[in-house]
Amino acid sequence: MHTLVVDHPLIAHKLTALRDVHTETPVFRSLTDELVTLLAYEATRHLQVEPVAIRTPVEAMAGSKLGGPAPLIVPVLRAGIGMLDGMTRLLHEAEVGFIGLVRDERTLAASIYAARLPEDLTGRETFVLDPMLATGGTLETVIRMLLSRGAAGVTAVCLLAAPEGIKRIETSFPDQEVHVPIRVVVAAVDERLNDRGYIVPGLGDAGDRLFGVV
Ligand code: URA
Repeated sequence: MHTLVVDHPLIAHKLTALRDVHTETPVFRSLTDELVTLLAYEATRHLQVEPVAIRTPVEAMAGSKLGGPAPLIVPVLRAGIGMLDGMTRLLHEAEVGFIGLVRDERTLAASIYAARLPEDLTGRETFVLDPMLATGGTLETVIRMLLSRGAAGVTAVCLLAAPEGIKRIETSFPDQEVHVPIRVVVAAVDERLNDRGYIVPGLGDAGDRLFGVV
């Protein structure tokens, strides 16, 4: 498993504004959208391209286009929906699947309540959108589902991660046993989780801040 913490002044600036308790929902949404697009640039770096013959107004040339089957983007309901536009903005060719997980606030265990994903993901790159990699329980479940359907690679795009969550994904998918690339692309790794499973210092409940307390 490879973790990439994207170090960039724009990301640091926007992430700080996102974390601020005084940032209201409309601004929180736009900052999330912009941050995801910046992260998407790095998260898609491994995609393969193939040559394509085109003609410019001046002459013929060999260009590049994304190769292989269409990537699949999987926002994790509900907070991942707030990341979808930021990702599809750069990856027009992608299809979108959905998965809904809810975590038990007492045990923090994640369980699936909705899934709409292709049965066969053979050869396809997949991108999981979940703003907060906290305990890692949700992401572990989603990665297992995508691998069981034959995904060629899984890249999780997250705004924030806790060291505990990263450790869990590393331990659950050891490189020696899992021969499909697993990547986490994140804007920052924070200090720790608190006893309610929140990332500290974090940004609070990402779903509530994006969509309100419903
Ligand atoms: N989910 C959130 O929305 N926030 C956290 O800090 C952890 C999990």
